[in-house]
Amino acid sequence: MFSDLVGKRVLVTGSTAGIGLAVAKLFVQYGAKVAINSRSQNEVAETAINELVALGKAEDVFFIPADLTKSAECKKMVESFIDRFGGMDVLINNAGGLGGRSSLELMDDDFYDHVMDLNARSVLMTTKYSIPHLRASAAEFGKTASVISTGSIAGREGGGLGAGVYAASKAWLHNIHRNWVKEYTKDGIRFNIVSPGTVDTLFHADKSDELKDKIAGSIAFGRFAESEELAPSFAFFASHNCSGYITGQILDVNGGQMCP
Ligand code: NAP
Repeated sequence: MFSDLVGKRVLVTGSTAGIGLAVAKLFVQYGAKVAINSRSQNEVAETAINELVALGKAEDVFFIPADLTKSAECKKMVESFIDRFGGMDVLINNAGGLGGRSSLELMDDDFYDHVMDLNARSVLMTTKYSIPHLRASAAEFGKTASVISTGSIAGREGGGLGAGVYAASKAWLHNIHRNWVKEYTKDGIRFNIVSPGTVDTLFHADKSDELKDKIAGSIAFGRFAESEELAPSFAFFASHNCSGYITGQILDVNGGQMCP
């Protein structure tokens, strides 16, 4: 079913760890050409690239450093990707994060800007600069190109204490996809969201074991998800064979933590 991912040119943002790395690995295993990204070329990035090379071909994977809270870096990342692979078939907007916690009364402009830049601006600008290339891919191959963004259960239910802006930024993401469906379906570009529940990544590094157990108890499966359990949903939305008539959807991968 995923055979059409062979040779597809896939950009995965925020992907040296966690969900993004698991997604990149799966796409490499399916024979795609994959670029991963994080803010800087550190040891974590080197390890991630080595892991990807071990799964595929060295010439089919590379790393692009870019801090996607900044519009200019979103643009440069897309340019680097096109320079290397000559086009783009799939964009996965995964970079994002809590960006800190603040109650409403203590919140200042810097906090608000940081959380929104990390989760909203990053996706807006990366998608903006990718659209011409995705449109060209759809026209050249006669198959839909795909944008998949990582949403969140928080975007559905409001988020934990101090995470209101994060939750709102993910709801923003869920909704702006619906607008892009209206504008770009005629160009053969699909937009879908994978919305995780609670996934065992560094995202939860600030939580005590006690709190993690409490959260796990609120999930029907009784445990956090592994990043690898998220990755196939991205492959499904990337594959024209699997989901060529599906756009504007949110797929909740949350082990029954919430059933919207
Ligand atoms: P993670 O394990 O913390 O990994 C985040 C990745 O993004 C890392 O590679 C990180 O590398 C990179 N990154 C961070 N800031 C960046 C920036 N400004 N520009 C470019 N790259 C950046 O996170 P995760 O848990 O896999 O989360 C991935 C996505 O899933 C996020 O959008 C998150 O909101 C969403 N999500 C996660 C959960 C969960 O429970 N884990 C639940 C719902 C939604 P550097 O730090 O080195 O830059």
